[in-house]
Amino acid sequence: MMHNVPKALNQQVWRAGQRLISTGKPIASQPSAQSDAASEGGLNFEFNDTQREFQDLVKRFTRDEIIPVAAEYDRTMKFPWDILKKAWALGLTNGAIPEAYGGGGLGVVESCILAEGLSYGCSGILTAITGSGLAAAPLLIGASEEQKKKYIGRLVEEPIVAAYCVTEPGAGSDVNGVKTKAEKKGDEWIINGQKMWITGAGVANWFFVLARTNPDPKAPAGKAFTGFVLEADTPGITVGRKEINMGQRCSDTRGITFEDVRVPQSQVLGAEGLGFRLAMGAFDKTRPPVAAGAVGVAQRALDEATKYALQRKTFGTEIINHQAVAHMLAEMAINVEVSRLIMYRAAWEIDQGRRNTYYASIAKAIAGESATKAAADAVQIFGGNGFNTEYPVEKLMRDAKIFQIYEGTTQIQKLVVARELVGRLKQSGGV
Ligand SMILES: Cc1cc2nc3c(=O)[nH]c(=O)nc-3n(C[C@H](O)[C@H](O)[C@H](O)COP(=O)(O)OP(=O)(O)OC[C@H]3O[C@@H](n4cnc5c(N)ncnc54)[C@H](O)[C@@H]3O)c2cc1C
Repeated sequence: MMHNVPKALNQQVWRAGQRLISTGKPIASQPSAQSDAASEGGLNFEFNDTQREFQDLVKRFTRDEIIPVAAEYDRTMKFPWDILKKAWALGLTNGAIPEAYGGGGLGVVESCILAEGLSYGCSGILTAITGSGLAAAPLLIGASEEQKKKYIGRLVEEPIVAAYCVTEPGAGSDVNGVKTKAEKKGDEWIINGQKMWITGAGVANWFFVLARTNPDPKAPAGKAFTGFVLEADTPGITVGRKEINMGQRCSDTRGITFEDVRVPQSQVLGAEGLGFRLAMGAFDKTRPPVAAGAVGVAQRALDEATKYALQRKTFGTEIINHQAVAHMLAEMAINVEVSRLIMYRAAWEIDQGRRNTYYASIAKAIAGESATKAAADAVQIFGGNGFNTEYPVEKLMRDAKIFQIYEGTTQIQKLVVARELVGRLKQSGGV
């Protein structure tokens, strides 16, 4: 396979990949010799050698391929196909796909390393080129082997996009309110309805679609919905105009209409009635990398603001010497560090095979809030310059806001955390 990417980068990622693949374990469970000693002591906050190598690769990719073009993609709002193709060729976009379907078999920790690194350069490009992971997640949970080989395998074979279609004009947080319906007629399913805010909709090759299959409004969510995988060119599917969003503007977001879309039983994922579980189960794996994207934005805001505060002078001194400015920077640093720790904890938990819902929602909530605050404070530190497109921080502020909204709003994360808290207490016999 020859791709138009720098050879050194290519060899490096494949060396890292080979090492990972040869052990057959998620990277997080392979401590290096150096970290063996640390892990004997119990707690270990270090990446192993392979993870460091992977992080270096991601940082270089961000420096060379993303940062120079981020502002231009924001301005033109074009989908970053060339960056997606380069990232795909390096194996960056397929790392998390299991080896059985041709991917790198990496863990969620590595997906977080990737997301934080790319997001430091541009979180819009991050969303555009890694959004397929959300569409793939329900298939990895509940699709048949044949479906996985066909649709997940396709993401490895070609630099394509897949989209996760759950939200509707009338139902976002309240997934139980999804109205798109699928009715069985003979051997076929007929799907009608509308989806909204679908990342990658206009460029996708296939869709994961959640539809109501039990018309009884009293049917429990856990049984009322079914997940489908649909080819994007299936007759009856109409993709809407590209939405012009506040930030992450090169990511393609659209509505989709399904009008008498006929699909065979082979497009049902798992079994009838399993859709809600598949759609929601995806978040345990995808929320930590979304939190990582937020950490990347917050870190960039902190770095840009610190550099600026060291140069800009008012009242005869650099503004970092004004305590009010220094404290803003300190607060950003505190939030970045806390968000990063809990984000990697959430990723590590699931890589250990443990239920991580509690940590994933904490991570998504705090990282989303921290990124939004850090980017707004960075604009404040830049003063009037911060409000202008010639400087990098106004884009960070526009891009950051979505981390409080997509993949479950902060308010919904708090509902999940509260529910998990009660569950944990009950389990421990506390109530
Ligand atoms: C750029 C972008 C990309 C997206 N990509 C996708 C995608 O690829 N696929 C997809 O399916 N969806 C996608 N979404 C949809 C996104 O997940 C939803 O917008 C989000 O879940 C919120 O739903 P909503 O917009 O309907 O807001 P609502 O659910 O109407 O919420 C409105 C407000 O009420 C609050 N709220 C709602 N219920 C409660 C409650 N019980 N308690 C407290 N507060 C509450 C919310 O937190 C929010 O502040 C995307 C959205 C955007 C903007």
